[in-house]
Amino acid sequence: MKFGFDIDDTLINLREHAFNLYKRKLNQQLSRDDFLAIKRVEIHEPFGLSDVEGKEMWDSSLEEIYYTDCPPFPDAVETLRKLQRDRHEIYYITARPKEHGERTKEWMKQQGFPIQNDYFFYGMKDDEKIHIIQDLKLDYYVDDKPAVLETLSETDVKLFVKDQSYNQELELPRIVDWANFMNVLK
Ligand SMILES: [Mg+2]
Repeated sequence: MKFGFDIDDTLINLREHAFNLYKRKLNQQLSRDDFLAIKRVEIHEPFGLSDVEGKEMWDSSLEEIYYTDCPPFPDAVETLRKLQRDRHEIYYITARPKEHGERTKEWMKQQGFPIQNDYFFYGMKDDEKIHIIQDLKLDYYVDDKPAVLETLSETDVKLFVKDQSYNQELELPRIVDWANFMNVLK
């Protein structure tokens, strides 16, 4: 079978990693509950930043957000390695900017994700992922963003949503715990 995965906030805990970076950089004492209470993808609001300031903060922090010690979600690496051992095809489809694609691929390999070089796609807009996903004829695709999953709802791809605060309204099979992925698949 062909499995496709988004990366940020699907396989790795990027928003919380960025939230913790912001806490240090802005010297603000926010709690994990403050993080969990955010109901949108963007994380700047609890820091008192406007959308414009938040975008600037994100862009100026991107190097640290992407390439330091953002943790994969528990059991995500192990689950994908098991898929690889079972001879499934594993594709990565990330909307990270083109200039970050190759470094992201290397960073993901260092985290232990099983990656074949030509099975890694990047630099598209969220609403352009559908074209790659359809061209690849994926059987399964996992993402966290409602805007992406909604573009795919009319396709034959079996969709899964990685559970996040901002996607609770989506009625799709939900991955809360990567260790349980094989059971959700059934
Ligand atoms: Mg994502």
